[in-house]
Amino acid sequence: MKVLEERIRQEGSILSDTVLKVDSFLNHQVDTQLALEIGEQFAQIFANRGITKVITIEASGIQFAMATGIALKVPFIYAKKKKAVTLNEQVYTAPVYSFTKQETYQVCVSAKYLGPHDKVLIVDDFLATGAALVGLVDIVSVSGAELVGVGCVIEKSFQEGRSLLEKKGVEVHSLARIAAMSPGEVTFVRGEQT
Ligand code: 5GP
Repeated sequence: MKVLEERIRQEGSILSDTVLKVDSFLNHQVDTQLALEIGEQFAQIFANRGITKVITIEASGIQFAMATGIALKVPFIYAKKKKAVTLNEQVYTAPVYSFTKQETYQVCVSAKYLGPHDKVLIVDDFLATGAALVGLVDIVSVSGAELVGVGCVIEKSFQEGRSLLEKKGVEVHSLARIAAMSPGEVTFVRGEQT
């Protein structure tokens, strides 16, 4: 997605060889128009696949899952990182190690909202090590729902996330794929981009 690549080049700051900061438009302050365009793009990529639900993990996937849900006219669910006292029914859980926070947490989704009748699209802001998305893939699998695919806004293709998901047979589409980055320089993967 050209417009996204341009924003990454203009506003992204590379904190290390592995961490890209994009909080002026993506995951702290959010460019709402861009978020809606991202949702439209995912809806186009996964059109006519019978998706009934979009799922993400709180917090920074929420705006893109919502935008995608709006475009596909289906609900979205965000998996919670801490089980709230209000979540007192049966839940699906999976352990996830956070790459940026360097801690493990249990993500959970109420069994009320995901089941064998669902066809699910997973959406998230970043694909890095894949830990977060593998956790969601496991939750979808335990629920009996069918996983249609994964949509990521930014993929750091030099990390192992994509290959981990593909090994599990998951279809992955990312809107900006970073081949390499170092302070002041970002190189994108060329090819199947939108
Ligand atoms: P993963 O489980 O694929 O390693 O990444 C999980 C989460 O870590 C992503 O959803 C995202 O919120 C965060 N993350 C991973 N890499 C980056 C990065 O380079 N920059 C930012 N801002 N967040 C990241």
